[in-house]
Amino acid sequence: MPPVRIWYLALNKRISYTSSMKKLLKKLLYILGFLWCLPVSILGWIFLGILTLFKQIDEIKVLPNLAFVWEIKKETWFHKLGIDWFGWVFGNNIILYEDIDKVRKYRSFYHELEHVMQNYCWGIFFYPAYILESSYLWLFKKKVHAYLFNHFERAARKAAGQPVEISPSNWLDGPKDRWPWW
Ligand SMILES: [Zn+2]
Repeated sequence: MPPVRIWYLALNKRISYTSSMKKLLKKLLYILGFLWCLPVSILGWIFLGILTLFKQIDEIKVLPNLAFVWEIKKETWFHKLGIDWFGWVFGNNIILYEDIDKVRKYRSFYHELEHVMQNYCWGIFFYPAYILESSYLWLFKKKVHAYLFNHFERAARKAAGQPVEISPSNWLDGPKDRWPWW
């Protein structure tokens, strides 16, 4: 066997070894993140479990990163309640509404998936940190949008390939709107 071929095989072996290690490490990080935000997720499971009992949920999926996707059934009262939202996240739970044509701007499945990753990093501190930042922007940074400029939202938009910098003319309800939640 020519030495180049041997080297090539050795290199390939090394690469596949590294990538399987990476996969394992990733899985481990998902598990740690899942455990770290478990108290928040459990609250979500209770709430969404009740919605399931009341037949508001169409389908529940578990993703490889251990995120749970709860699809809200169409024409139900809970669907009507959240129709403008498209999706939101609570712990490891992605609550998803099907109406793509009515998607609220700057939300998408990959955007919400990134919020799950943020929950995995911040654990129970995610919501206090999020609320603190939005409140700070709302109260002290009058020229910025309290939702669109929140760094958790900016990171989620970046991860989902959505625009990060958004000028006031493109704010959700016009340049005067600074509402912290959407
Ligand atoms: Zn978001």
